[in-house]
Amino acid sequence: MLDLAIIGGGPAGLTAGLYATRGGLKEVVMFEMGMPGGQITQSSEIENYPGVFREDPPLTGMELMEPWPAQCMHFGLKHEMAEVKQVTKEGDIFKVKTASSEYEAKSVIVCTGSTPKKAGFKGEDEFFGKGVSTCATCDGFFYKDKEVAVLGGGDTALEEALYLANICSKVYVIHRRDSFRAAPPTVERATKSEKIEFILNATIKEAYGSAMGLGGLKIEQEGKEIDLKVPGIFVFVGRNVNNEVLQQSDGSYLCDLNDWGEVLVDLKMHTSTAGLFAAGDIRVDAAKQVVCAAGDGAVAGMEALNYVQEKFNG
Ligand code: FAD
Ligand code: NAP
Repeated sequence: MLDLAIIGGGPAGLTAGLYATRGGLKEVVMFEMGMPGGQITQSSEIENYPGVFREDPPLTGMELMEPWPAQCMHFGLKHEMAEVKQVTKEGDIFKVKTASSEYEAKSVIVCTGSTPKKAGFKGEDEFFGKGVSTCATCDGFFYKDKEVAVLGGGDTALEEALYLANICSKVYVIHRRDSFRAAPPTVERATKSEKIEFILNATIKEAYGSAMGLGGLKIEQEGKEIDLKVPGIFVFVGRNVNNEVLQQSDGSYLCDLNDWGEVLVDLKMHTSTAGLFAAGDIRVDAAKQVVCAAGDGAVAGMEALNYVQEKFNG
């Protein structure tokens, strides 16, 4: 039986494994369906993880994560390259099911992250990471004193537009309707910002550019075409929370989630189910940053260690 099963091998899962094994848990397996490292490995530059800044050429996400697995494995963490299909609990014991096997575990940390939805306009994939972004905290600074666009009319879009307005010279908010899902106070703050200009009842038809990156956007607004020459477009059209592994056969979830499917945790990453922890982008109120996911993983790893020792070895 495993002491701890970790689902997901991004910054949260790897750090959870490091803290749990180095703290003394023996049988710890991290289930990661791909290579460990998580979604930051898709990023061409990261400059906000403390202690590893490189200006020219910028540090890539892949370079940041490259040494993490070896450090974690050194203390005993094992990697099972498999997609977990479902986690259940019978009595005090969890069952972790992959396509071909079933494992028993005394505790589980779920770190499967969340994935931004795509808007579906032409060029969105082609220019992703070269002008199209889904993270203002990550990439906003690259557009300091430049004009950028934001797509969406929800809380995330308007809050991130306000964040970008602190850095960029102008922020165009493109929204397909003329009313917003975002909370009225947030809409009011965005409307009052001198740096934010709304382009409403509008859809992006195409993102265009060259090998150098995004050149601009072709937008359709009430029958007319607008050519918006911006080097950056931030897409905030919702997120898919990767919580499928927690879904039970009757459609319920193994622990409490909020209305958007994020896992509810306390400050120690405990979920509503004893012995089940969540860390990183999957949890409620996650800052969706590598440093925060790693911090969550450390807390969850230490808490899983305490739980197993008190419950099973005490
Ligand atoms: P993830 O990194 O998403 O890892 C989850 C892992 O779980 C994945 O590896 C996935 O394969 C695995 N998984 C999912 N489901 C299963 C399953 N059923 N079975 C097995 N494995 C599963 N953050 C910053 O701090 N600075 C930046 O500059 C920055 N830039 C970014 C740029 C891009 C392009 C992207 C996409 C993200 C960026 N981020 C940045 C955000 C950062 O990557 C995330 O906040 C962080 O990776 C979250 O870590 P996590 O461990 O919670 O989840
Ligand atoms: P959201 O509320 O689902 O909003 C997504 C926005 O994107 C909507 O305005 C939607 O337009 C638009 N959109 C969707 N698909 C699109 C497409 N293909 N092309 C163009 N536009 C598209 O998502 P969110 O803003 O990420 O928020 C998710 C949840 O988290 C919400 O319930 C929100 O309240 C909550 N949240 C809360 C806070 C907070 O309380 N501070 C902060 C952030 C998020 P339509 O409006 O026309 O559908």
